[in-house]
Amino acid sequence: MTIDYMVVGGGIAGASAGHHLARYGRVLLVEMEQVPGHHSTGRSAALFSEYYGGPQVRALTRASREFLLGPPAGFAEHPLLTPRGVLSLCPPGDEAEFEAELRAGAEVDPPAREIDPAGIPDICPIVRPGWARRAMVKPAARDVDVAALHQGYLRGIRDAGGTVARLTRVRSLRRERGRWRADTDAGELTARVVVNAAGAWADQVAVSAGVAPSGLTPLRRTAFLVDAPPGVDPARWPLVGDVAGTFYVKPESGHLLVSPVDATPTPPGDVRPDDLDVALGAARLEAATTVTVRRIRHAWAGLRTAAPDDVPVIGPDPSAPGFLWLAGLSGYGVQTAPAAGALLAALAAGVEPPVDPAPYAPGRAALSAPAPTDRRRT
Ligand SMILES: Cc1cc2nc3c(=O)[nH]c(=O)nc-3n(C[C@H](O)[C@H](O)[C@H](O)COP(=O)(O)OP(=O)(O)OC[C@H]3O[C@@H](n4cnc5c(N)ncnc54)[C@H](O)[C@@H]3O)c2cc1C
Repeated sequence: MTIDYMVVGGGIAGASAGHHLARYGRVLLVEMEQVPGHHSTGRSAALFSEYYGGPQVRALTRASREFLLGPPAGFAEHPLLTPRGVLSLCPPGDEAEFEAELRAGAEVDPPAREIDPAGIPDICPIVRPGWARRAMVKPAARDVDVAALHQGYLRGIRDAGGTVARLTRVRSLRRERGRWRADTDAGELTARVVVNAAGAWADQVAVSAGVAPSGLTPLRRTAFLVDAPPGVDPARWPLVGDVAGTFYVKPESGHLLVSPVDATPTPPGDVRPDDLDVALGAARLEAATTVTVRRIRHAWAGLRTAAPDDVPVIGPDPSAPGFLWLAGLSGYGVQTAPAAGALLAALAAGVEPPVDPAPYAPGRAALSAPAPTDRRRT
């Protein structure tokens, strides 16, 4: 069987790339785990927010909206996006961040809008009275059904005659006679083109192929579930967070999902939450809301892998023919997956890209900048 495109990594990025590539040639997606969403993709907060990230990220998120609102027939049984909204709070001292967020949010349709803090209890009754001096709402933010999106992509690869190979780790890659040869757990596999969608491991995969790394840093982010206050149904509350980015809380299956918004540089791996990050998240939640944390139902952590400029790395490597990157998706990999995968596929196939590829180019000068330092806020 001749493979055109070998996608390394079966998270949301690799799955989207494989789905979009399948119309241009035969796809083999190789995933080292039994469950393709085992790492970052299965650990996200599942939010789609066009207000989030820098301009390059927002362009990809905007370009993903159409697919998520109207996926191809048969792609998913239920809508992929459902209403959620975001309530951003500004405690005293964070006015500069609030103004910047309001300005950035003005470009989204519908725009972020400042509200009278007196109206906060009508939107989310647990916010501690007086905690926020100012507040804004971001009405267009939605929940994403990450599992349905991911499974839809993987099914799309198979339906088009492609293969999803689990428990198949790529150990190294080499280029011979115009093709890439991968040494894997399943023996040697060859393909015309390799797509590096290995998440936290993407720089390691590149180095194993003799390709210069992109300066990616995996940053650990913690989340945990606590009980909602007794007698209330949080289902319709928005995601609530502060503009300085020290915590957020979001309804999740009748409970509350909380994050301390940590970003600790961590080697690639199956990461676990640190007790200190969970305790910090609980303390910040109790300070900003009237919730009392009596027990942690479940805590987890995942890696948000970022380039030095926090812009995704998408496209052909400038010095390795047939080697393409789809990595550095940081905290935006779910919400940007449709456009990121479509962009990658267009660049691989040499057709008109859906967005300007220049800002995401592998090998850009910003990728040789120093790695970010510990971004944890204490
Ligand atoms: C707590 C948390 C909250 C988040 N919230 C959001 C959110 O609300 N919205 C949003 O858009 N994003 C969010 N994110 C970010 C999002 O989860 C990531 O950007 C996204 O999942 C990255 O997808 P990926 O496919 O690049 O990585 P991954 O899902 O990690 O996939 C990479 C895959 O490559 C495989 N792999 C690695 N090396 C090899 C190899 N050598 N051979 C074969 N396979 C290999 C791995 O096993 C893995 O399955 C959040 C992240 C965290 C941790």
